[in-house]
Amino acid sequence: MKVTVLGSGDAFGTGGRFNTCLHVEAGAERLLLDCGSSSMVALNKAGVERNGLSTLLFTHFHDDHFGGLPAFLLDAQFVSRRTQPLTIAGPAGIEHRTLHELEAAFPGSTSNRWRFPIRYVEVTPSQPAELAGCAVSAFPMVHDERAGPCQGYRLGFGGKVFAFSGDTAWTEALIPLAAGADVLLVECYTFDTKLANHLDYRSLAEHRARIGAARIVLTHMSASMLAHPEDLPEERAHDGMTIAL
Ligand SMILES: [Zn+2]
Ligand SMILES: [Zn+2]
Repeated sequence: MKVTVLGSGDAFGTGGRFNTCLHVEAGAERLLLDCGSSSMVALNKAGVERNGLSTLLFTHFHDDHFGGLPAFLLDAQFVSRRTQPLTIAGPAGIEHRTLHELEAAFPGSTSNRWRFPIRYVEVTPSQPAELAGCAVSAFPMVHDERAGPCQGYRLGFGGKVFAFSGDTAWTEALIPLAAGADVLLVECYTFDTKLANHLDYRSLAEHRARIGAARIVLTHMSASMLAHPEDLPEERAHDGMTIAL
């Protein structure tokens, strides 16, 4: 499995970083984990062949994770001229949220006759799924239920496990999310400012000994994290970073 961090930024493009978008290669299969609003730029910049992606999987329905979906679909229809089936997966309500997002972004586009079959898959904590060859299980995160359910995921492939938090404040669910994972990519928005819906580095460090991932990579950083001197034991993600598992 290989993960390329196409977007490591927060919602506001802090530090010139793209919104959250992870390109996951699992054998011959490819999926995107989140597709924030700047993701079409990130995909084009990285030269990602869109028709090679079988699946889009979303953590929650904020614009910086979900907002790139309308442009992805219209690109598939009119530019990439996709014919391959596309799976759109995410928390409960994924189909309704997709149609709502699409209609808001490009009014009238929900009445398109799509050139390719679209399959919606709900992945919930009680309902794991097989997506793009990966065993995917969901964990409930604590972020903003108006944009949820908000979920983190474990993706298992070839005996390796990649775990991703999506957006969350500290929650005990991060412990089973990370347990035995080869890599945990975790949001770390602020350095020491505690927020109700995002994680700060000090809270993460407090629980560090109980987080059972072999490798921890921080992402979705605000200015306070980006500006913090590079003296932290955890790696920090950047746009274009590749993580091999
Ligand atoms: Zn976010
Ligand atoms: Zn969010």
